[in-house]
Amino acid sequence: MIKYLLFCLVLFYSCSPNAYQKTQKIQNKKIDSLKNELSIKTEITIYDSLQQALDVQYIPTVNFGLRKPNFVIIHHTAQDSVGQTIKTFSLSRTQVSAHYLISQSGKIIHLLNNNLRAWHAGAAQWGNVTDINSCSIGIELDNNGLTPFAPKQINSLLTLLKSLKIAYKIPTKNFIGHADIAPMRKNDPSIFFPWKLLSDNGFGLWYDSADVMPPTDFDFENALRRIGYDTSNLNAAIVAFKLHFVQIDVLPTLFNWDKCVLWNVYKKY
Ligand SMILES: [Zn+2]
Repeated sequence: MIKYLLFCLVLFYSCSPNAYQKTQKIQNKKIDSLKNELSIKTEITIYDSLQQALDVQYIPTVNFGLRKPNFVIIHHTAQDSVGQTIKTFSLSRTQVSAHYLISQSGKIIHLLNNNLRAWHAGAAQWGNVTDINSCSIGIELDNNGLTPFAPKQINSLLTLLKSLKIAYKIPTKNFIGHADIAPMRKNDPSIFFPWKLLSDNGFGLWYDSADVMPPTDFDFENALRRIGYDTSNLNAAIVAFKLHFVQIDVLPTLFNWDKCVLWNVYKKY
């Protein structure tokens, strides 16, 4: 009985509008400090090779707006519940966040204004882009990495992606996963993630057929790099590619099927 009452109390608290008053206050304070940063006009000093400050004048233009996200990065939380992830994102010491979290029942939780920089990518690279956080929206799916993604969760994801793609004119090929941009560190979203379904809906690329072998002089490393993968650790890049496009195995070897898939995907870039 006591356990039941406690459960009701926790449920009531987490559903009440005041439950996140404290984190809202911290978020507002941080936004205020960003506003202060924006109001500094003459802060930038440029030095020449003799360490002499150049004469830089600030003359305000009247035409500007906020910078916009151009990528969407999909993650699985690798945690056991939505509550656990919200807690992680509510503690300053964790230094991690995302713009959205989607529960297994399909509920979308918006954590940060899309125009602000969430901390979800970490050290990452895609093509020549090395500051992924600055140009992306991060979406976390409540999933521990060991189980398939719930259909309702994927449906909500597709709806959210559609609105983001339209709002920010995000290119189809710029919907990618955390493992794609951080192959040495990350493996999310897992092998269960339905990348083909996403591609069928206009989010990310997928191969048309895998029945044509590439030419004998096909440079696999160059192909991976052309798609966007950081190939400084080639084995890790192969694993990341297979996690996304093959999903049968994630061994760091390109078998014939994998080579055909890579050849087909490569030709789209
Ligand atoms: Zn991640």
